[in-house]
Amino acid sequence: MSDTQVPPNAAPVKAEAKADPRSPFPNPNQQTAKKLAQTVERATQVFADRGLRFTKLRQQVFAEIAATHASIGAYEILARLGEKGTRVAPISIYRAIDALLDAGVIHRLESKNAFFACRRTDHTVKGKRPIFLSCEKCGAVGEVDGQHIFDLIGEAAKGAKFNPRVKFVEVSGFCPRCATGET
Ligand SMILES: [Zn+2]
Ligand SMILES: [Zn+2]
Repeated sequence: MSDTQVPPNAAPVKAEAKADPRSPFPNPNQQTAKKLAQTVERATQVFADRGLRFTKLRQQVFAEIAATHASIGAYEILARLGEKGTRVAPISIYRAIDALLDAGVIHRLESKNAFFACRRTDHTVKGKRPIFLSCEKCGAVGEVDGQHIFDLIGEAAKGAKFNPRVKFVEVSGFCPRCATGET
C-alpha cells in the first residue's frame, strides 16, 4: 500500500501528542524501566494464556525490542545481547523472534525487516487489525485500528476474484513529534 493513505494536508497534532497517554506514539523520553517491566509482564501473560513457553532467550529478545523507541533488526538484537554477554547463534534469535511474532507481542515492519513491540491489547481480538504508522524521521512505529481498510482491500480484491493475504498495512510519514519539529 502506498503513502497516499495519508491525507497530504493533515494538520500536525500539536503539543497534545505528548500529553495524550493513549497516543500510539508515546514519548521516548518517558520510556522508563518501570514501563518496560510492565510491557514484559504483559508479554509474559500472553505466553502464559496461550500455554506457550516464554523462555529466557525469548524474554531477552522481547526486552530488547520493547526497549527500543523505533524498530530493531535481528542483527542489532544479536549485537545488543552480545554486549550484555549473551552470545547465541543468529538462528536462535530468528526462532525467538518467530515465537514472539506468533504470540502477537511483536510485529514485523516489512519495509525495514525490523521488529517492534505491540503496545495494543485489542487487535488480537478478531476483527481489529491494525495499520502501522512508521515515522520516516525518527523511526517510531505506532498502531491504529485499521479494520475498515482491510475490509476495503477485501472488497476491492473480491471484485477481481483475487484472494488477498494482507496481514498488515504500513503507512510511512511523520509522527507527531517530528511533524512539529520537536525532537
Ligand atoms: Zn500490535
Ligand atoms: Zn518521528
